Amino acid sequence: MKKHITLSFLLFFFSFAFIGVQAQDTSYVRSIITQLASPELHGRGYVKKGDKKAAKLLLQEIEKIGLQAFEPGYTQEFSFPVNSFPRNVFVSVDDKKLTPGVDYLLRGDAPSTRGSYQIAWINQKVVEHEDALVNMINNVDKDYFIAIDTTGIRNETILELIQFIRAENPTKASGIIWIHHGKLVYRPYKEQSKFPTIQMKPEALSPDAQEIKIKARARFHKKYTTQNLVAYHPGQVDTFIVMVAHYDHIGRMGKECYFPGANDNASGSAALLDFARHIGQKENQAYYSYAFIWFGAEETGLLGSKFYTEHPFFPLNQIKYLFNYDMVGTGDEGLSIVNALSHPEVFARMEAMNEQHQFFESIRGGKGSANSDHYYFTTHEVPSFFFFTRGKFKAYHDITDKAENLPLSGYHAFFGFIAQFLSEVEQLRY
Ligand SMILES: [Zn+2]
Repeated sequence: MKKHITLSFLLFFFSFAFIGVQAQDTSYVRSIITQLASPELHGRGYVKKGDKKAAKLLLQEIEKIGLQAFEPGYTQEFSFPVNSFPRNVFVSVDDKKLTPGVDYLLRGDAPSTRGSYQIAWINQKVVEHEDALVNMINNVDKDYFIAIDTTGIRNETILELIQFIRAENPTKASGIIWIHHGKLVYRPYKEQSKFPTIQMKPEALSPDAQEIKIKARARFHKKYTTQNLVAYHPGQVDTFIVMVAHYDHIGRMGKECYFPGANDNASGSAALLDFARHIGQKENQAYYSYAFIWFGAEETGLLGSKFYTEHPFFPLNQIKYLFNYDMVGTGDEGLSIVNALSHPEVFARMEAMNEQHQFFESIRGGKGSANSDHYYFTTHEVPSFFFFTRGKFKAYHDITDKAENLPLSGYHAFFGFIAQFLSEVEQLRY
């Protein structure tokens, strides 16, 4: 009986403490997101040291919070090759300048390109006549770009051939224009292609357009050095609960076009600071130790988290749980937890807790996936969970993922969910 009372009391006490925090406003995370997503940070990529400026900003906060460092300066450096567009990128069609990010995006692996080109089409009309397609492929030369629009093409063999042309450009044409009916998305590449590919909205290139002009200077870094930031808050034991988020984004494409990355993943980076502040508060004295890792180069292929798992600052088997936050700036449509189904008992507890406290109307547990920074930890048997929120805000790897657009509609619920779960883990040690 006594035990029961003690437990209830503690649960009550902890619910109280954490619910108190849950009622905080979002001004802190919003201010961090706004700074990380600002044009001065250049999309936190590999133009104008965007990644380093973002790291500096985070370090200032880490020091303010008073987190401890495993290594001097909290920093773990690593290098990788990456292609970038530091100078202006210019594209016009029949002398009408197109707007980067709105009308078109270069694919991240494009080399420097400069010139005026005629346009040869591969579209439904052309592929109706096999001869026309073959003639076109044989006759284009370096004065051409091939524009590809697969709308209405159903023939699988033709589609495969088109994919091959798009990927390899076996013709003499100087580049490929890929007509894209969906959203234009960008990502940095670790390599540079031999020819440029331009993703273009159908409205930006009419089938009777005559000429495309391009001026793009690419800079390929053979060895770009970026960094992870690793900090911790000591508990009574050296078993760690680790929270991670990538702070890099996809940078900029030329002077005019930068990718703010407010949801992806200024939101998770800010949330990590918010949790660090929360756990650092005296009244939340922790039994477990808590590590916080801001990863670099996630968008370039999970490079920061891969490097970290190969060079960890403390043994990976001391990690009790790892929580990865990547895109937590929405929530009006619920919370998703990738890899939850690999840990059914833990997920059942999360579901029960959510049911009791009604943080989210819907939480969705998913299978494991190599889609964010938890992945390499799962390959080292670390119980890992990747949280992202779902919502009507759909900006992704584009120029509209801005802080002022980000609703943070489920942030209270998200913070409450994690904090409550951790308070139960602290109490019950499961
Ligand atoms: Zn991301």
